[in-house]
Amino acid sequence: MRDGIALTAKQLAVAARIGVAHPRCVRLLAVERMPWPAPRAVLDFLMRRGAVPQRIAGLTLRYAIFLRKDCWEDRKLLAHELAHTAQYERLGGFRPFLRQYFDEWLTVGYPNGELEREAERAVHKSCAHE
Ligand SMILES: [Zn+2]
Repeated sequence: MRDGIALTAKQLAVAARIGVAHPRCVRLLAVERMPWPAPRAVLDFLMRRGAVPQRIAGLTLRYAIFLRKDCWEDRKLLAHELAHTAQYERLGGFRPFLRQYFDEWLTVGYPNGELEREAERAVHKSCAHE
């Protein structure tokens, strides 16, 4: 949140269309490698089970959106991550979002959970306006 940049006017409009209640709170940060908010061993375990894509392109922690540097211009990816921000808002913050997200991840699997599918629908909706 400290190092990220705010959304541009165009990105603010996309965020609003997707349903982000407070798009001005969003900060974007380009990273070489995705930060991982859990011990490395957990990520390794999930990757061995095929539960994590090998090269994660985006990660959203409520208003903090991390985008891999080579995906910085990917508008569909940003729309997808903004949809997750809207989900954090709707569900009531980190704990309820992450509980549902990882529950879906470990049961129906990535990317077949309802939160992921809803984010993909938001991408299609936002792109239909361009
Ligand atoms: Zn997603």
